[in-house]
Amino acid sequence: MLNDTIAAIATPLGEGAIGIVRLSGPQALEIAEKVFVGRDAGRLREQGSHRLHYGFVVDPESGEKVDEVLLTVMLAPRTYTREDVVEINCHGGIVPLRRVLELVLRQGARLALPGEFTKRAFLNGRIDLAQAESVLDVIRAKTEAGLRVALSQLAGELSARVRGFQDRILGLLAHVEASIDFPEEDIEELTREEMDREVRQMLGEVGRLLQQARYGKVYREGLRTVIVGRPNVGKSSLLNALLRERRAIVTEIPGTTRDVIEEVVNIAGIPIRLADTAGLRATDDVVEKIGVERSREAVGLADMVLVVLDASTGLVPEDLEVLELVREKKGIVLVNKCDIADGEAVAERVRGVAQDKPVLVVSVRTGQGMENLEKAIEEMVLEGRVAASDVPLVSHVRHRVALERCREHLEEVAEGIKRGENLDLLAIDLRAAWEALGEITGATVTEDIVDRIFQDFCIGK
Ligand code: GDP
Repeated sequence: MLNDTIAAIATPLGEGAIGIVRLSGPQALEIAEKVFVGRDAGRLREQGSHRLHYGFVVDPESGEKVDEVLLTVMLAPRTYTREDVVEINCHGGIVPLRRVLELVLRQGARLALPGEFTKRAFLNGRIDLAQAESVLDVIRAKTEAGLRVALSQLAGELSARVRGFQDRILGLLAHVEASIDFPEEDIEELTREEMDREVRQMLGEVGRLLQQARYGKVYREGLRTVIVGRPNVGKSSLLNALLRERRAIVTEIPGTTRDVIEEVVNIAGIPIRLADTAGLRATDDVVEKIGVERSREAVGLADMVLVVLDASTGLVPEDLEVLELVREKKGIVLVNKCDIADGEAVAERVRGVAQDKPVLVVSVRTGQGMENLEKAIEEMVLEGRVAASDVPLVSHVRHRVALERCREHLEEVAEGIKRGENLDLLAIDLRAAWEALGEITGATVTEDIVDRIFQDFCIGK
């Protein structure tokens, strides 16, 4: 257990009905007692765990009342951090929260670093690293499907799979090492055959996890989407319609160079990130700016493009330029304004040149055909993967990279067996595969990676 006690405001700063100052560590109760006045004051610990106490936070130096509060006492080890935790439920304003925080800091708590409560839960062994990472995913989930992915990871489903692989690799290592130590026993042949079967089976399973990782990433991070088309085809109308109908969430994504505000819309459970960026604006007039680096960049960064065409003007040369610009991209072509023109005729022509992009006939104004957009996006992202209950387990790049490394080492093992490689060499790759997996759960991860993961958290979590 860590020996200092940390404190932070755990709720968003701003006006709210309730705000919480959270304390965790061996002196959490002692510090809370120093600032708490109420019926149970002085005997919080003996009142037991998971209890709520009514009273006031009072400045012990001046005797001044700071706020009327409810104090939650949770005793180790059944707490978020596995340490003693006290949560002081204050009135949710910046001033009372700041004052209560100041008081507990003055009584000996230390201001928590971002993510430090969750980091303690990890360091104290309550959750592993993959679970800790998913805490942030739960907080940031943009759609219910995204939340399901995050919650399954929080529940340890990925970790359980990873540990299962690790156990099997250890089993193989035990065989290999027995054969190295007792070569006269003649168990090597058997070992090689068994190993070959087991390694191939694991390669298949790891491969399937990795295949799903792409969807996992989409649910977690959303699909960066850019709307392109020449002027007046209905791009802004489409953007506005999507934002209006799709319960848009505005998120601030902290960038390295500047903050970008973007809107996330929920389409078939997939968070579609419509960035309100220079890129999106630049593509407003994409034809005029073809060749301009910025619009290429916006398209280049996009995971998906929505190409808008105008049925009332038919397919014009500029449209072909737009289609050419996004040739390499995944995307959907929308033939808009079918309320005033024959969209199907235009769509027929477009299908000949739109490469493999699906072409839909729609009217943004009347909403006609718009329901097909949902289906098309879903099909494009999930590529026919229908069962929504099939939650992808891998959603973080870090986990994917570790799994890929594991796969490479297992492939080496399989190759080595085929070549009749020395068992010592096979053992090296088996160990490396085991270690790669350990990075996911945090068993074999370095301290600076752990630090980097928690830096992204907010203070108080
Ligand atoms: P942008 O320049 O591509 O962003 O196009 P806008 O969204 O500003 O739309 C250009 C014009 O087309 C506006 O007058 C819209 O009202 C109109 N418009 C957009 N969608 C439709 C549609 O589905 N049907 C019809 N009839 N007009 C539309």
